Amino acid sequence: MAYCRNCQKVFELSQKERDFYHKLGTKEPSHCFDCRMQRKYAFRNERKLYNRQCDSCQQQIVSMYSADAPFPVYCFNCWWGDRWDAADHAQEIDFDRPFFSQVAELQQKIPRMCLTSTSDCVNSLYVNWTDRAKNCYLLYSSSLCEDCHYSEILVDCRDCLDCTSLKESENCYFSVDCQKCYNVKFSRNLKNCLDCNFCFDCADCQNCFLSYNLRHQQYCIRNVKFSPQNYEAEVNKIMSDRSSLLATWHEFLKTMEYEAIHKFANQVKCDEVEGDELYACQRAYNSFDSRELQDCFNIIYGDKIKDCADSFAIVDYSERCLEVFSSNGGYQNMYGYANWDNCESTNYCNSCISCRDCFGCIGLKHKQYCILNKQYTEEEYKRLVNRVINHMQKADYPTQGGKTEEWGEFYPMPLSPFAYNETMANIYYPLKKEEVLSRGWGWREDNNILTGKETVEDDIYLDNIELTDITTQVLKCVDCSRNYKIIKQELDFYQKHHLPVPKFCSECRFKQRLALRNPRKLWPRQCGCILDHEEHQQQAQCSTRFKTTYQPNRNEKVYCQECYQKEIY
Ligand SMILES: [Zn+2]
Ligand SMILES: [Zn+2]
Ligand SMILES: [Zn+2]
Ligand SMILES: [Zn+2]
Ligand SMILES: [Zn+2]
Repeated sequence: MAYCRNCQKVFELSQKERDFYHKLGTKEPSHCFDCRMQRKYAFRNERKLYNRQCDSCQQQIVSMYSADAPFPVYCFNCWWGDRWDAADHAQEIDFDRPFFSQVAELQQKIPRMCLTSTSDCVNSLYVNWTDRAKNCYLLYSSSLCEDCHYSEILVDCRDCLDCTSLKESENCYFSVDCQKCYNVKFSRNLKNCLDCNFCFDCADCQNCFLSYNLRHQQYCIRNVKFSPQNYEAEVNKIMSDRSSLLATWHEFLKTMEYEAIHKFANQVKCDEVEGDELYACQRAYNSFDSRELQDCFNIIYGDKIKDCADSFAIVDYSERCLEVFSSNGGYQNMYGYANWDNCESTNYCNSCISCRDCFGCIGLKHKQYCILNKQYTEEEYKRLVNRVINHMQKADYPTQGGKTEEWGEFYPMPLSPFAYNETMANIYYPLKKEEVLSRGWGWREDNNILTGKETVEDDIYLDNIELTDITTQVLKCVDCSRNYKIIKQELDFYQKHHLPVPKFCSECRFKQRLALRNPRKLWPRQCGCILDHEEHQQQAQCSTRFKTTYQPNRNEKVYCQECYQKEIY
């Protein structure tokens, strides 16, 4: 048992975790899982984008760094170009000062890449943490998408709007966690479904409406079979009217909460795992939204990795990594982020490409034996690194809540290139401005948020589904009052699908979708099944216990694998 140095809560470390930290030659964590995640999330801005200039070629660019960021920001061409060298800013290590304040100095000088997306994106300026996007707008953390807008975590999707976590899907709207779906709207957890609306946990279904837990069904409304003609008539009536759409949405949420059966976790082809949305994983604990993990702890969005812990967005055969994010093919990297293309044995590095044996470096490409971007010989490096770690173990880095040792901790929050409210930390661990400032973390007044500039006063105006001139108007979000606009591609989508123009801004819509997904956190819970199953005939309730993302005080019926399978097949 240990006390979290940030939130003071008690947290447990399993023997397996202890062994892991020992194997990597670092100390056990001083922060609980949530505080460790929060600290890393504070270094990742996914959704706040700004217009600014490239500090090298002066071209107008879209960037996740605001125009007044204290370090240079380069467009893709300039960042990847050879007109600058991060080694030009090399610093001598100073053993009289805390290591982290020297890292802070270095990172003020090194140019950062405007966005984290790759140059293989086509006609998609406003996308971040995304690769191979074509004609996309406000798409985040996605890959291989075309004509997708206002969405995140999409892989291989086409013509989707307002969706979260979709794979190989097309023509979908306002849906989360779906796979291989076509023309699915207002739905959650569908697989291989076609033309379904307001559905939850269905597979191989077509033309289903407001239904749940169905397999291989057609023309069902509220889980009852209809004739195709009656089905069409009923569905058209609801879909063509905004107020019945809204009422149906609320009915859908209620049905999920009180009627549907929820499997405790989605674990497919897994062996000895704890977590949710896991595929082909072995010995993976407290992990989520991941594939092919082997011997891992505390991983979110991992893919094909081995022996890694406390990391997110880590892919492509990464091995023995700890506390890193946005990393591919790395080996033995700790406490860093955005290090790409097979970095090896790096500590406290970020934005490095194909580097080995580096410590406290930023923006280096193809380097070895560097500390604070300064080149050393192999012998010097090995001797110095030991001295630096020694120094970091002793040093006190002043933070506002007290003092902390440096070695074995992720970069402290104030070293983030972003303000807290620009980052994922504020999405998953939201805090008020005063709380953030009182902890000495950054906060940014959002100049991008416009209010009071609306050209349409009455939101009833939007109830007319066939609007054509809406793209020239400025609208006002009925929830947060923020002004927003409708882009042409978006309007085309609404008209094609006979959907009303939304009354909420894209950020409020994102929050509504996020609320449909469970938190990436596990609670112990007992199977809620009280049905007459032979496995537990003697007891009123199935006694199977599991770890689930459904908090025990939630209302849903959460079943173990066996009870779920007895009911849904
Ligand atoms: Zn904590
Ligand atoms: Zn440039
Ligand atoms: Zn809003
Ligand atoms: Zn059960
Ligand atoms: Zn049962």
